[in-house]
Amino acid sequence: MRTVILATALLAGSAVAAPAGNPWHAKARELFKQAIETPTVAGRGKVPELAHYLAGQYKAAGWADSDIHVMPYDATPENHTAALVVRWPAAGKATAKPILLMAHMDVVEAKAEDWSVDPFTLLEKDGYFYGRGTSDDKMGVVAVTTALLELKAKGFKPKRDILVLFTGDEETTGKGALLGATEWKAMLDAEYGLNADGGGGGFAPDKRPLGFTFQTAEKTYADYAFTTHNAGGHSSKPRPDNAIYQLSDALNRLAGYRFEPALNPTTRAYFGERQKSEPGALGDAMRAWLKDPANGAAADTIEADVGEVGLTRTRCVATMLTGGHAPNALPQMAKATVNCRILPGVSPDAIRDELQKIAGDKVEVTRLDDAVASLDSPLRPDVLKAYTDSVHAMFPKVPVIPEMSTGASDARPFRVNGIPVYGVDGSWGIVPDDMRAHGRDERLPVKALGDDVDHWVRMLSKLAG
Ligand SMILES: [Zn+2]
Repeated sequence: MRTVILATALLAGSAVAAPAGNPWHAKARELFKQAIETPTVAGRGKVPELAHYLAGQYKAAGWADSDIHVMPYDATPENHTAALVVRWPAAGKATAKPILLMAHMDVVEAKAEDWSVDPFTLLEKDGYFYGRGTSDDKMGVVAVTTALLELKAKGFKPKRDILVLFTGDEETTGKGALLGATEWKAMLDAEYGLNADGGGGGFAPDKRPLGFTFQTAEKTYADYAFTTHNAGGHSSKPRPDNAIYQLSDALNRLAGYRFEPALNPTTRAYFGERQKSEPGALGDAMRAWLKDPANGAAADTIEADVGEVGLTRTRCVATMLTGGHAPNALPQMAKATVNCRILPGVSPDAIRDELQKIAGDKVEVTRLDDAVASLDSPLRPDVLKAYTDSVHAMFPKVPVIPEMSTGASDARPFRVNGIPVYGVDGSWGIVPDDMRAHGRDERLPVKALGDDVDHWVRMLSKLAG
């Protein structure tokens, strides 16, 4: 998952900074080419190849074999993949618990016939890198790795262990992150995680900076089934009760239902920043809701905005439908899949109970997964300051805004298992032109890759130095 931010303009101001000569940017480009040209799509079995290539880079740079681990695992029986775990031990006695750096090596499928260029050949054109994974999330893998190689080459002495986890199935099952937060926790236990697959910056097409987000929370993904059963019969003799009508009545009630709006520390900080640059009705609604969280009408106005949808409450929506077995028979069964994106801290079981009340007694609501509630990470001032300072070194005065993602990432199992995670990506793109992650002709501004390397160097120098 990766979002480039903010659909609306926040601030007029500084232009994009001039590029600086840096041999590590050339190194990043070398790693990027190898990473993009290894098609790490689920089912193709190529993630272990990329993991071994990256492991070789750390080894060549002086990491001990005992601190580099390629961890094979099966995301599904058909998808053999791997994670890469690297440890940079503290020089001397550690002064604090480790920091965990996270990114994912796998990418979403990309078919050559759907693209205007080959998705698995790195192409530089008109100031952009094109290729699947250029923004989600091989840029993160490469920027983190290059920054560590650079720091090592320059004699940086970390005061605490720096741990790295690159997973191999974030886009599909997310099992690597779950293993990392549970079975492999002894290797990866950290004070907090910094995720390259979250946060980041956006610019308007006229180059105005819109802002960088600091991802501290994400909603919980959970699926439910709405099912109706009926004795059925011959369709020439309709019964008063009908499985399809009962299901559609329940779905219509769901369509009109509004879950209770609620602010959490992340969205409170987010709307606090957002309202500063929203003079109109939307901004008024933000200000009214911040002042009075019980003002449901204000929250509804915000929720109705295409750029803010999903941020004020849990949302559930029907996504799939089946029912009946013959055109001339009364349906014995009708079933809909309902997908929910639940506010952090709210139990998916509690949402099931709420859905059951909406659906009524003719429809059975069941869970289709065993997701547990995601948790938001506290807004740590030290991490927020390191991120903000580093962003401002690239783009002075650009807003840095806490963010709750409506989708899910590798951060979730760590947050659930007691390790707060912060999405602190330092790359950027043009909104909405460059929001192509998972889609066609994914790309990244060439300059954003080098910027991201420098960003991770600054962040780690601050937080681990
Ligand atoms: Zn991603």
